[in-house]
Amino acid sequence: MKTVDRNTPAVGIDLGTTYSVVAYLDAQGHPETLVNAEGERLTPSVVFFDDEEVIVGREALKAFARLPERAAECSKRDVGYKVYHKVLQGKYYPPEVIEAYILNKLRQDAAQQIGDFSQVVITVPAYFDEVRRKATQDAGYMAGLDVMDIINEPVAAALAFAYEAGFLSEASIPSRPERILVYDLGGGTFDVTVMEIRGHEYVTLAIDGDVRLGGWDWDQRLVDLVAEAIIREHGFDPREDVRAWGKLWSLCEEAKRTLSVRPRATISFEYQGRTAEIDVQREQFEAATQDLLDRTRFTTTQALKAAGLTWAEIDRVLLVGGATRMPMVRRLIRDLVKKEPEVSVSPDEAVALGAAIHAGWLLGKAQGNPPRFRIRNVNSHSLGVVGIDPLTRRPRVGTIIPRNTRLPIIAKRRFKTHRPNQRSILVRIVEGESPNPEDCCSIGQVVIRDLPLNLPKGWPVEVIFHYRANGRLRVKIRVRHMEQDIVAEFRRERALTKELLDGWRRFISGKEPTDYE
Ligand code: AMP
Repeated sequence: MKTVDRNTPAVGIDLGTTYSVVAYLDAQGHPETLVNAEGERLTPSVVFFDDEEVIVGREALKAFARLPERAAECSKRDVGYKVYHKVLQGKYYPPEVIEAYILNKLRQDAAQQIGDFSQVVITVPAYFDEVRRKATQDAGYMAGLDVMDIINEPVAAALAFAYEAGFLSEASIPSRPERILVYDLGGGTFDVTVMEIRGHEYVTLAIDGDVRLGGWDWDQRLVDLVAEAIIREHGFDPREDVRAWGKLWSLCEEAKRTLSVRPRATISFEYQGRTAEIDVQREQFEAATQDLLDRTRFTTTQALKAAGLTWAEIDRVLLVGGATRMPMVRRLIRDLVKKEPEVSVSPDEAVALGAAIHAGWLLGKAQGNPPRFRIRNVNSHSLGVVGIDPLTRRPRVGTIIPRNTRLPIIAKRRFKTHRPNQRSILVRIVEGESPNPEDCCSIGQVVIRDLPLNLPKGWPVEVIFHYRANGRLRVKIRVRHMEQDIVAEFRRERALTKELLDGWRRFISGKEPTDYE
């Protein structure tokens, strides 16, 4: 780790699907949320591509309602894919580039208050796989940041909660393990994590989730509900016109928030000189989205099972993500856990606050301070390599590190050369739970070149996987009787090249590239 100036601020960023939040540790070491240039604590994660400039945040969200074809929203959902699903100004953008624009605004706005900084901790959903974690780190790099670590959102939320409860101070460490269930329903992703706080240790017991389920899906259902009423009463479908759809979507998102506090909401939709007034009752909205909630119930139960616990053994439930404000979510928790959810930290800000606490710890560590807590994670997806099934001769996944394994871990796999004087070996690495490689997420391949000359057939070659605590992977190769490990070329399938990353970094943040792993 680099040497750290005592004045380096500890900054944590919650890069959310719909909103992002930045927090830092103030002079007394308290985590505080920073406001953006518009004076708001939450910055909409929307990027608008205007003719001359790229706009991020509140203004981009407003422009999105007028010209949705020029705006990128929910880009976090596409992270891990090669390109964002929408063509913007005639161009396909990698999702991490869109995320970099968001991070760049967050960096610039925060710097207005705490001065220039680059070292940050960024959070990711616990359920994010290796490819998505790497893409998030790349987004930070392109935004001119130095990402010290990426941590799981629920762990960050648990740290913020522990700070509020005083568990992080020597005097009030919990005397017995506290088992916490973190139910995180954000704008676009759902994560559930079962954790145990054992004194200073924050141990993740199990993770489950759904990367394509969030408040956005509830919005969609409300849009459909209202659109059908407009069709019945006014004979036109606002979903058929992209601009009308954008307008209706933002009205529905607002109405959804109203329905969290009132039993009904009215949507006034103006289109082509006509006004449609649609009343929606909370029960109607809940009935139209019950199956989405049931999906979260199922996933939560699975996570509890994977942790080997019963509901009675859960001490607290933390709700994270704006969508947990929906009364139906709180009802579900009461129904499952028979306890009231924790309300000591704001569900919107907990993650960024926890990330700032972690950033403070990392900076302190670099200055030689003793740690106040320790995070122990598990992996959320099994990691494997593709081999050939000896019976069927078909490709098959050989699991190397099963999901929910405690990290960091080093796992080894032995391969054999197939023929005499073989000079190279190719190992395909995948993540997923299926034995069929087609159903898994391919994260890349390791190409071992320059094996020593004249190795006999069947010579053992060991591939070593180092899965780090932050869910990132390093691969090394060892060939028997060779003096040195071969540094394998780990070619990632969907990641941007170093040249592209540097180019985007100069373009988006105006910062010169620095060394980057
Ligand atoms: P996050 O990704 O954590 O910022 O969560 C944002 C999601 O929470 C979006 O889908 C919002 O529409 C939703 N949300 C925020 N506030 C409320 C609320 N009061 N009631 C229902 N959903 C909300």
